[in-house]
Amino acid sequence: MYREEFPILKTGVIYFDSAATALKPQSMVDAVNDYYLNYSANVHRGDYNMSLKVDSKYEGTRELVKEFINAEDKKNIVFTYGATDSINKAVFGFFINELKKEDEVLITVAEHASNVLPWFELQDQIGIKVKYIPLDNDYKVTLDNVKKSITPKTRVISLASITNVIGDKRPIKEIIELAHKNNIIVLVDAAQSIAHEKIDVKALDVDFLVFSAHKMGGPTGIGVLYVNSKYLDKINPTTFGGDMNASFEMDGTRVYDDMPKKMEAGTANIAGVIGLGATINFINKIDIDKVNAYEKELREYLVKELKKINNIKIYNENSESAIVTFNYGDIFAQDLAIYLNKYNICVRAGNHCAKILKNAINVKNTCRISLSFYNTKEEIDKLILALKNPNIKKELF
Ligand code: PMP
Repeated sequence: MYREEFPILKTGVIYFDSAATALKPQSMVDAVNDYYLNYSANVHRGDYNMSLKVDSKYEGTRELVKEFINAEDKKNIVFTYGATDSINKAVFGFFINELKKEDEVLITVAEHASNVLPWFELQDQIGIKVKYIPLDNDYKVTLDNVKKSITPKTRVISLASITNVIGDKRPIKEIIELAHKNNIIVLVDAAQSIAHEKIDVKALDVDFLVFSAHKMGGPTGIGVLYVNSKYLDKINPTTFGGDMNASFEMDGTRVYDDMPKKMEAGTANIAGVIGLGATINFINKIDIDKVNAYEKELREYLVKELKKINNIKIYNENSESAIVTFNYGDIFAQDLAIYLNKYNICVRAGNHCAKILKNAINVKNTCRISLSFYNTKEEIDKLILALKNPNIKKELF
């Protein structure tokens, strides 16, 4: 679907790595080029037309993001460098002051490094305890297991809405309801879900939500931290400098701006923000329900075909997202990815930044195919043909 919008596909490449980063539509690239070529002034600083245009595009994107995720206000939307930066800003701008020694933070072993390591840091810095919600036999989070993991000391639940290796979709709304009944704050890592499902922060009543533009077809180096209105005054800047302060004096007194500016120190990734705006316009134009149904159909087809190959072990057959993770017999995942590259097929191999997932799936490295609406059944057929090659082991190197 919409393949003509993605110039890279004209090269014939078969791109099955959209969970790492999605391909970029022409309209996004055009918007970024337009900024660099035609009005590349700074933001929030000039009084001349070109700069005012930048202001309006930059703040216009904030409005687009607000509407896209149904936030209450533009104040809730902070531009960051990506999901990783967003989680770090939430942890070190808010949770570090909110939590105290022995407070418990619930995550799972399936989380991405960016939703594990900041909490480990906090564990060392202020003595919180990182605890793990057990996964079920499909490596999923059940509401029951969340319930069982909550103790009187649980203060935070921090989970991906869709994980990046197992690709399971968590019951986020129900988890948030349960958490709030127990006075627990919830951070949702929407890096893998933002391009694949409609997110409504108001309906979810989520406290913090993060995502990266590049996983939805936007530029790299730009992301969003959504902060619920409850916490706008409680979150503190984690970087300090220009464009986030109202005044400062020689004696050290200073006044910082209100949200969201106080969180956006320094010259912003202006081209990134403008590209994110173009990406949202692109996604708003496509029929997301149709896209989801199509991605589901592709996934089912891929799983069905992979299952016909004896040596293939799929780790997440029952997951809901467009991610399929597998290994081929005793072939090292990276070797298989290099082999597939000979056929111009891009898959991801390794631990996918989920380095403690091995404790659940008992294997360190896997191959991951992540589909998007621009993939086709014909591409899957080519992958299957390459995997069915009887000489596959001989052709590895
Ligand atoms: N969370 C998940 C679930 C991810 O898949 C990723 C990216 N692989 C991230 C967070 C981090 O995103 P970024 O590298 O864009 O900051």
